[in-house]
Amino acid sequence: MKNTILLVDDVRINLEILKKILDGSYDVLCAESGKEAIKIVQSMNVDLVLLDIMMPDVDGYEVCHTIKHNKKTKDIPVIFVTSKVDEASIVKGYDIGAVDYITKPYKKKELVAKIKTHLKIKKLIEELEYIATHDTMTGALNRRQFFKLAIEKFNEDDNIYGVMIDIDKFKNINDTYGHHIGDIVIKTFAKITKNTINGIFGRLGGEEFGIICDENEISKLDILRQKIENLIIEDKVKFTISIGIAKKNQNHKNIDELLHDADLNLYEAKGSGRNKIVFRRR
Ligand SMILES: [Mg+2]
Repeated sequence: MKNTILLVDDVRINLEILKKILDGSYDVLCAESGKEAIKIVQSMNVDLVLLDIMMPDVDGYEVCHTIKHNKKTKDIPVIFVTSKVDEASIVKGYDIGAVDYITKPYKKKELVAKIKTHLKIKKLIEELEYIATHDTMTGALNRRQFFKLAIEKFNEDDNIYGVMIDIDKFKNINDTYGHHIGDIVIKTFAKITKNTINGIFGRLGGEEFGIICDENEISKLDILRQKIENLIIEDKVKFTISIGIAKKNQNHKNIDELLHDADLNLYEAKGSGRNKIVFRRR
């Protein structure tokens, strides 16, 4: 898939020249004002911005500042392309958050090389961030990221539920069919869960997963349980899950206490036959 580059310049011919250089290799969007540029980055998926500085109303510095101070857009690399060549302007550009600064007249091939470099760096950063925050086998959040987001959610929302899920007799699956099948079981479970339940979903241990979600999702947990019960992995393996649910109440001082109650319910589900949901107030 092509990367999308947003070109911003108040002089249309400048846009056309840049567009001609980049068309074919990239999906190119154009904005003729700072305001339009901000609207586009906030509403579309932009991978990189080439930004003029001198524009009426909202200038390039202001556009860059806005991009860098918005959670959704702050990681988009911004490269200034400008005829302002004095050192103070260049320094200001980097201070505001640009990754590069190209002065006009620019060399086409150098411009293209810099775009490539910054897109590559952006992709690597995204990959590193993904690896740092996810369990790469299942795509669920890793334990650390799960708790980071769960704590945030706990602190800002009283109407939440903690859910603990465990794959029943997982050790038996591994022992009987081998780790290869065990891995497929875990991956399949995670995929179906992500497609069924909206919430903060993390892998907390080997075959143990946690979810923080709102009331809407709680009724879907039994649908999840049934979906899993009806699966057949590799034409031979069936498995089930047990689920413990707790609703946040005034006794829960922190996320650990909420999840502890969910865990007690999970324990009860496992102790009373498995393949079931226990949701009991503690
Ligand atoms: Mg201009």
